[in-house]
Amino acid sequence: MPWTVTRQIQWPDGTPMVEISDGDLDYTNPDALGAQYPGEFQTYDDPEEAVEAALQILDYWQGAGQTDAQLGIGATGGMTMPFEPISPEQAREWAAKRREGLPKCDRCGEILGKERYSHPEIPDQVFCREYCAESAYEDQELQELKFSSVCDSCRNVAYDNGISGVAHQAEAMAMLGADLEDHLCDAREAPGLNINCECACNPVKKIRR
Ligand SMILES: [Zn+2]
Ligand SMILES: [Zn+2]
Ligand SMILES: [Zn+2]
Repeated sequence: MPWTVTRQIQWPDGTPMVEISDGDLDYTNPDALGAQYPGEFQTYDDPEEAVEAALQILDYWQGAGQTDAQLGIGATGGMTMPFEPISPEQAREWAAKRREGLPKCDRCGEILGKERYSHPEIPDQVFCREYCAESAYEDQELQELKFSSVCDSCRNVAYDNGISGVAHQAEAMAMLGADLEDHLCDAREAPGLNINCECACNPVKKIRR
């Protein structure tokens, strides 16, 4: 649910108010004043950003002489609806509460808007932008590299035991390789190739973490 910030003169009592209204521009009160300050008529996915923008606008407006201007948060439901004035503290409390339940980027924690990104290699995560998806994937790759020093033959044993994913297979073999069925290891089979395998089936094993 996005929020939109506008300046309004409340109907019917005439209170000047910076409004944070539920929904996009179609759901603000109908007679918004023309945009004069940065952030007006903008739609925010993050309620905290909406509140900070509204407070900044309120500050400018009061500074320009509209000393009785107020802050209000509400929902018009698409009709004309006067909002109750609230204090900046109340507004920030409201925003923090609203923010809690919103879906966030698995990488940077930003509130997810309409546009969301995913990466085919990590389908269970959702991101706010392509950059976050890419860097989350790169991080996972690095994570997998940490375990890549288990040879293919040994990882195959893990695969045969129903473990999927390079990192999981390597990790399992590094811990349990000595206890699983007898298997050949590339490092022993072809010592000339200088393969380093950290599967626990190797008598000289080092497990790096
Ligand atoms: Zn992100
Ligand atoms: Zn092994
Ligand atoms: Zn091996």
